Amino acid sequence: MRTWERATRDVTCGYCRKPIGRGEPVLVRRIASVHRAFLRCPTCAGEPVPTTLAPLIVPAQTSGDFSRVTPASATPAREWTPYRDDE
Ligand SMILES: [Zn+2]
Repeated sequence: MRTWERATRDVTCGYCRKPIGRGEPVLVRRIASVHRAFLRCPTCAGEPVPTTLAPLIVPAQTSGDFSRVTPASATPAREWTPYRDDE
């Protein structure tokens, strides 16, 4: 199966080894029994890049709310007593 996609990360063309930057069009060939996809740059693909190729949409980075996290240095140290002889 051949599909034109936007590179989600920096990849390399599998034919000419040209680096393909993130967001650039890349021809992805997938074979059902093969896990890895074969990548081709627009030059090696042998066909024009479709003009309807959607731009790469990167989800916004959502950082967690760390305002309620107490650092370990702020908590009092606990006494460690495996057993006591005076009992
Ligand atoms: Zn290439």
